[in-house]
Amino acid sequence: MTSSRTKAEWQALDAAHFLHPFSDSQQIAARGTRLITRAEGIYLFDADGHRLLDGMSGLWCVALGYGRRELADAAFRQMNELPYYNSFFQCATPPAIELAAKLAEITPPQFQHVFFTGSGSEAIDTVIRLTRRYWELEGQPERNVIIGRWNGYHGSTIAGASLGGMKYMHTQGLLPMPGIAHIEQPYAFELGQGQTPAEFGLAQARLLEQKILELGPERVAAFIGEPVQGAGGVIIPPETYWPEIQRICDRYGILLVSDEVICGFGRTGQWFGCEHYGTRPDLMSMAKALSSGYLPIGGVMVGDRVANTLIAKGEEFAHGFTYSGHPVCSAVALENLRILERENVVAHVRDVAAPYLQGRWSQLADHPLVGEARGVGLLGALELVRSKHPRQWFEPRGKVGERCRDNAIQNGLVMRATRDTMIIAPPLVITRSEIDELVEKAWRTLDQTHAELRRDGLL
Ligand SMILES: *Cc1c(COP(=O)(O)O)cnc(C)c1O
Repeated sequence: MTSSRTKAEWQALDAAHFLHPFSDSQQIAARGTRLITRAEGIYLFDADGHRLLDGMSGLWCVALGYGRRELADAAFRQMNELPYYNSFFQCATPPAIELAAKLAEITPPQFQHVFFTGSGSEAIDTVIRLTRRYWELEGQPERNVIIGRWNGYHGSTIAGASLGGMKYMHTQGLLPMPGIAHIEQPYAFELGQGQTPAEFGLAQARLLEQKILELGPERVAAFIGEPVQGAGGVIIPPETYWPEIQRICDRYGILLVSDEVICGFGRTGQWFGCEHYGTRPDLMSMAKALSSGYLPIGGVMVGDRVANTLIAKGEEFAHGFTYSGHPVCSAVALENLRILERENVVAHVRDVAAPYLQGRWSQLADHPLVGEARGVGLLGALELVRSKHPRQWFEPRGKVGERCRDNAIQNGLVMRATRDTMIIAPPLVITRSEIDELVEKAWRTLDQTHAELRRDGLL
């Protein structure tokens, strides 16, 4: 078994051989990788036995929390029955079919078809291939530009990183790829000073119309956005934003794609983020909480508009992955969805956990370091500032966030830092008393960070 090594041995082996995603390997070698060895409920345990409340659901995915025996059993049963077969060339396996039907049932009514992938990034690649294929079949192949947003996140493949608007990702390796454009994001705290939220939401949505007119409507295939930007810092659009985006997409006939990789499966208190904001997307990418992260699986819900055109052609869609509709991943995802339904998890988020968390989270705005405490559903963000009035950020940006994150971990809480924005997305099954613990730990972390900044002359 793997528990035979000491922590120091794991760290040495890690530094010698393991290149980590989104990590600086020199820093890992100097500090030692943070080693998580087991988990239960909403808690992680590290190699020192230190218990951490997982305020990020792993990477936004562990909706049901850790240690769900039913998910392990579903995988075990399917592994014994049929561990693998593909869905290429007109083949299928029962779990993948069952999962497709279940997804058609729980997603909005325009969605009757799904294309399976192994991850969110592959779902985004599939979105690009599908939207371009759709317009080719519609006889408008020059409609091939897809519009995303600055500071959006759509994964890390060449297509995902291109469609995303993370400028620091674009600086590495000739990105973005051609045929992609970006508009500014609806980030009120950074960009909306002096405007009401309603005005700001409309103004940011109308940037889409400007961009469409600038490119020429006959060239635009689709617009993609996360209902709430997750990795960008839990950026919650004003209520006026999405309805205006929908109006603009309708007006120019362009496809609307909702990237539900984070917001899907209950995060906002509705099954899907598009339902929270009342949009009618043509495509939805999903992954993460689809299996509560227990096994890798993603997909794209394909709305009738696109599916009908694709199917009517009677021609092969030349796209797919070895693990599209993997039977074991599908069986686990299916069991995950059954548990979400059986335990009324989405209603728990909507009626209990989200109102309680948001009530308590907003109190953190009273802390001297916090310029804004915002949230929706089981998502939350804190903007750390040097001064509230007049507003001053810390310079250089990002250092205080990193320090705050390290302090949170010392205090037994996993919070993530995006620049100087602290973000949370706890498991959907979190209870009120666990929310109390999360908020108390966040408060203690802010106090400690504040005291350190004073001590170091940064405040
Ligand atoms: C995580 C994420 C992705 C990429 O998913 P991977 O499974 O990491 O490839 C895409 N879109 C959004 C909104 C995400 O949060």
